[in-house]
Amino acid sequence: MKKIGVLTSGGDSQGMNSAIRSVVRTGIARGYEIVGIKRGYNGLMEKDFIPLGSKDVSDKLYRGGTFLQSARSEEFRTEEGQKKGANNLKEEGIEHLVVIGGDGSYRGAAKLNDLGIKTYGLPGTIDNDLPLTDYTIGFDTTLNVVTDAIGNLRDTMSSHERVSVIEVMGRNSGDIALHAGIASGVDAILVPEQPWDIKEISYKLKDRFNKGKTHSIVMVAEGAGNGEEIAHMIKDHCGLDTRATILGHIQRGGTPSAFDRVFTSRMGHEVIRLIDNDIYGVALGIENNDITYHRFEEIFEAHQPPNTKLYSIFGDLV
Ligand code: ATP
Repeated sequence: MKKIGVLTSGGDSQGMNSAIRSVVRTGIARGYEIVGIKRGYNGLMEKDFIPLGSKDVSDKLYRGGTFLQSARSEEFRTEEGQKKGANNLKEEGIEHLVVIGGDGSYRGAAKLNDLGIKTYGLPGTIDNDLPLTDYTIGFDTTLNVVTDAIGNLRDTMSSHERVSVIEVMGRNSGDIALHAGIASGVDAILVPEQPWDIKEISYKLKDRFNKGKTHSIVMVAEGAGNGEEIAHMIKDHCGLDTRATILGHIQRGGTPSAFDRVFTSRMGHEVIRLIDNDIYGVALGIENNDITYHRFEEIFEAHQPPNTKLYSIFGDLV
């Protein structure tokens, strides 16, 4: 029976469990054996393999994180480590490998593909920073976590007539800030993809307070600046009581949203179809609500354009 390995790598994201479940359940239904590899490429180095049956993925659909656990592996970054990984898989009779992770994990998967393991990437990162996919796994859940947190902050900020600066994750991408900012009706969004002027923003906030507003929220993507520093700058420019909140790792938690569960179920299913059709060396995505795939090289060369349209929509809403 053909064996498919599956691992989660890099930072975890909500929906990874649902993706694993879909690979396992669909794979078994099509007659494959599924092997889980623990702790990403670390487990691959150490042959930390576990057989996965249908029951092993029960109760996982609605859980955040990844039950296979995730890690970063220095050894696997080396050529020797990659050869060792490919050999470990071959020794175990694993011909196909599904890697759920971000850009770094994809680069490792592409190396394994070159070494004769048929590999597949699923976009597992909350940051939505991979090209050729409209959404990444966990991004939608993270938006819900962030908008819930902002709802709670809004209550207390309003009681004390404060400006709240909220720093969210995203690395070099402003997508979490932009989408969650629009969903939360914030007053300003600072993202790395767009220029911003803190003096101008501060004066606008002051003007709104003068006109009767009791609170304001400024959303900052971590790639655009440091929330604490920006809060100080705003206070210095306009004198408003300003507090920073760094949301941090809570953004990676929470039960996966219905969107993330359905989307990952579809992608896991598509991986098995690609295996059946002997298509490999590709990463999957969702584009215009279709599950699509592209060769790893295409993904590495692609540029993710900034979402200027959404940013300009926001500009008209404030
Ligand atoms: P996240 O979006 O959460 O950062 P990621 O997949 O980009 O996820 P990385 O830490 O960059 O996270 O990569 C995960 C692992 O993939 C690394 O620990 C390393 O083992 C492997 N990896 C990263 N880059 C490469 C590379 N260029 N070649 C081979 N393996 C790599």
